[in-house]
Parts: sequence; C-alpha cells; structure tokens
Amino acid sequence: MICQVDDFGEQFAKRVLAELEDKGAAHSLCPVCGRRDWALNHDTIALLNHLGPDIQLGDARGMSAIAIVCKHCGFIRLHSALHLFDSG
Ligand SMILES: [Zn+2]
Repeated sequence: MICQVDDFGEQFAKRVLAELEDKGAAHSLCPVCGRRDWALNHDTIALLNHLGPDIQLGDARGMSAIAIVCKHCGFIRLHSALHLFDSG
C-alpha cells in the first residue's frame, strides 16, 4: 500500500489513492524487489509536464504523469494522470 504522502498535498494524494484503489492498482508489489512500500513523489504531477500539451520537442509532447517510488529499491512506476483520473 502507498503509505507516504510527503508534502505533496493531502487532497490530491487522497484522490490519487482513491483512483488507484478503484482500479485495483493500490496494492501492487514492486516488480523489481517484490516489496510493497510505495511513496508518492512530491514532484509527481510535473513529470514531463514542462513540455506542455502545446509545446513540441521534435515529435514529443508533454504528458502529465504520477510517479510512485518504491521506498526500498527506488523503482519508479508511472501512471498517466489523464487515464488515472478518467472516469470512463
Ligand atoms: Zn522495489
């Protein structure tokens, strides 16, 4: 279970956790070390977002992502914010 929120913003963290729970992704084991000790990264939502949807770098575009870090081995899992918060 994700247990550390840092100073990321409690409301947002609760929303992320609720969406992960709803989609059955909150209790996943780390694929690298097999532990279940995750932390939301406080820089999460800005990952790759600096490009923005209207700014191109070659053919690349920005993408809002939520990073969750394994506190044991440092493996980083990414969830697309667009898809995580999409109710469809
Ligand atoms: Zn790990």
